[in-house]
Amino acid sequence: MKEPVTAYVGLGANLGDAAATVLGAVEALAALPRTTLVARSSLYRTAPVQASGPDFVNAVAALHTRLDAPGLLAALQGIEAAAGRERPYRNAPRTLDLDLLLYGQGRIDSARLTVPHPRMSERAFVLVPLAEIAPQLVPAGALAAMTSQVVARMP
Ligand code: AMP
Repeated sequence: MKEPVTAYVGLGANLGDAAATVLGAVEALAALPRTTLVARSSLYRTAPVQASGPDFVNAVAALHTRLDAPGLLAALQGIEAAAGRERPYRNAPRTLDLDLLLYGQGRIDSARLTVPHPRMSERAFVLVPLAEIAPQLVPAGALAAMTSQVVARMP
């Protein structure tokens, strides 16, 4: 059988009980078929970037999965839908947002999926939790360049 791939998923929520939504999504990731949750970061409270509404709660999860990348994306979208996400307009406040950040060493550029996620390297709310669970993936200078973004680890 194909070896599992290590994939990293960014989680974010900023409506309702955002921390509970993110923790519920981590449980849903752990329950995906052909997939094992291997790590999750702390939760972080972050100011919205290119989005409106209240602060976000963000985290990053590491998976070992035998799902292919489109299959994993479809599974992430299923978890979003189950959390009741609506898209009334672009970058609206959202119940739950799941991004496929990295899929092994994979480089994918299709109509539905771009991996590595194209904006992850500009986003402290992705890089700070990613560095907590996979410091080898975050270049030392990357975080220093974005000190203006407020990312506070939650107790
Ligand atoms: P958003 O509304 O910001 O969650 O964007 C969702 C859209 O981005 C979907 O149509 C996906 O097909 C597309 N997309 C492209 N690359 C990715 C990725 N790496 N992770 C999640 N969604 C992606």
